[in-house]
Amino acid sequence: MSKEKRSTVHQALIEITPALEVSALFVVFFTFSLCEFSTKVSKNIKEGAGGVCEDCGTFVGRGNLIASHIYHSKKAKYDKEHNGMARCFSCEGVYHLRNADDPEMIGLSQKDNDTAVKSYLTRLTEKQLAEIFLNSKLKKSWENVLLRMKENQY
Ligand SMILES: [Zn+2]
Repeated sequence: MSKEKRSTVHQALIEITPALEVSALFVVFFTFSLCEFSTKVSKNIKEGAGGVCEDCGTFVGRGNLIASHIYHSKKAKYDKEHNGMARCFSCEGVYHLRNADDPEMIGLSQKDNDTAVKSYLTRLTEKQLAEIFLNSKLKKSWENVLLRMKENQY
């Protein structure tokens, strides 16, 4: 990507990401309040991946992997290894962002999915965000997430 194009992307990012100024407390709260596998299942999913994101194939190390739910409805099989995969923060954010306009598809409420999008995207570098927002559909979805969060105050 050219320098000029990247700086345009950064400018656009600055305009649409005021909500990224989120406190660490929020992230911690989110981590403990929503959608976690039990410790044992989470450990198995991460260890099985060997430090590699099972979505993009990047080695990020075990500490930077999330045991991600494929389907979030808290019914039978919720806490099973086959309902999970190891993802990096970027892929996890994109996964929730892709489903942001129809989160019921992955068993989440609008609020919970929007909160997940914000939580994971907040952990990314500007460069990672810029790459995600090169996809205009994802960028639009992110703008919608921010709009809903503002309108509904969550
Ligand atoms: Zn990944």
